This record gives sequence, C-alpha cells and structure tokens, in this order.
Amino acid sequence: MAKMLECTKIDPSSGCKHVVRGETVEEVLQKAAEHAKEHSIRQVTPELIERVKANIRDA
Ligand SMILES: [Zn+2]
Repeated sequence: MAKMLECTKIDPSSGCKHVVRGETVEEVLQKAAEHAKEHSIRQVTPELIERVKANIRDA
C-alpha cells in the first residue's frame, strides 16, 4: 500500500499544499526531509519525524 503525507498536516500555518508520496514509510520520510528544506527546515529532529510518522496515511 502506497503512503502519503500532506504537508499542511505537519505545518498548517505554512499553507503548503504539497503532498509527499512514497511506496513505504521510509520513502515518505526521506522525501519529507527533502521537502522540509523548502520550509527552511535544515534539521529533521526526532520530534519532527514522530510528527511526520503520525500523519502518514495510506494513499
Ligand atoms: Zn510544504
């Protein structure tokens, strides 16, 4: 089952409509880390990873 993550779920204040998609949770995490750079997030903290994981759902 493919996975997806809506950026707005992680940071509602950003107004970002980006959706990260991947075949696995790991792939989504990796792409989310890449996308985080667009939000000037250079360091992906364990807290952020937990928040991302909590919001990943089946596509
Ligand atoms: Zn975004």
